[in-house]
Amino acid sequence: MNASRVVLIFICLTISVLWAEGNVTYSLQKATNPTEDQLDAYARIEAAMDSAVFMYNKYTSLSKKITVYYDVGVPTAQANFDGVISFGSNRSYMVVGTAMHEMGHVFGVGTTSEYKNLIVDGVFQGAQTTAKIIEIEGKANAVIQGDGTHFWPYGLNYASEIKSEQDLIYHCWIIDAMYKDFFKEELFFTGKLKSDQGLCMVRSDHSLLLGDCEDPLAIVKLYRLGDKTPYTYRLEFGELVLDVPNETTAPNTEVGLYRWNGKNHQRVLIDSTAGGRVTLKMNHGNLYLEAQNNRIVQALPSASNANQKWSFLSLGDEPSVSILRHKGVKFSQNKRQFHVDLKGRVLPSQKRSRFQKRITIDSP
Ligand SMILES: [Zn+2]
Repeated sequence: MNASRVVLIFICLTISVLWAEGNVTYSLQKATNPTEDQLDAYARIEAAMDSAVFMYNKYTSLSKKITVYYDVGVPTAQANFDGVISFGSNRSYMVVGTAMHEMGHVFGVGTTSEYKNLIVDGVFQGAQTTAKIIEIEGKANAVIQGDGTHFWPYGLNYASEIKSEQDLIYHCWIIDAMYKDFFKEELFFTGKLKSDQGLCMVRSDHSLLLGDCEDPLAIVKLYRLGDKTPYTYRLEFGELVLDVPNETTAPNTEVGLYRWNGKNHQRVLIDSTAGGRVTLKMNHGNLYLEAQNNRIVQALPSASNANQKWSFLSLGDEPSVSILRHKGVKFSQNKRQFHVDLKGRVLPSQKRSRFQKRITIDSP
């Protein structure tokens, strides 16, 4: 391992600690002419979901769009892996603990075969999760126990499991580790991808173009997929990923952006070349990403073609300070005290709800 690779890994680790925010969003589906009961439920559900999403985005690097329903036919609350959460009419479940518990199901707890396969004799076997519970408990023999649907501790299965905000944070850490154990995904890099001509991949709506590296839409997250070599990578620009339209293997097809579906036309292999640069090969057709003016196409390999060479530009290496300034503000906001209500619901500082009595817990 050469020095520059060590530096790159160090930078990636540093960045993933500072900026490994999740990208979880939700939308609550509402009736056109809501009743008093619905309005009351919507306010409570939004308070709970705002706090739950805030926690997941702060303490995990997970991404998903969640759709939330208020459905009086649901006994308590329920969720599925497609990203749907439904709350029933019982107000005692419209709290952050329940919302976070349901988000665990949304990210695969009890809703995927990957989860079920990792429960053996009542003990969760995933290496990342086991390492995390040992770290949390400070005991070498600590384990996560579970059945086909739920796990403990930190599964937030009962209100009594939430004694402080710390229990919510540990829940996030465990879900983040479980997701890595389920799907072998790891945030590898956050920054920019620069062509040999000095232009960066920049998101433009559903297109991916080459443009100014100072553009905030140039920020890409690379997720490493799989648990052994050859690893493939997903290139995320916001909620969309680099994608070859219609899975075509035709050379000189322009790449675009699409929702992640896990298939090989959205996965890239990385080969390092001289001078710290890399080539990026599409995993479905063995074609290489090539810069052509302000477009990115998949092209036949050509070792001598500089347009197929890319470099990683870490946040902080770029000339612009605009993004760093933005991040700085965000980071210092995260150091503020949290306001948490008596049921453990964390209030984003700008949001208050008439249902929440406030107590203050120091942020760790
Ligand atoms: Zn459950």
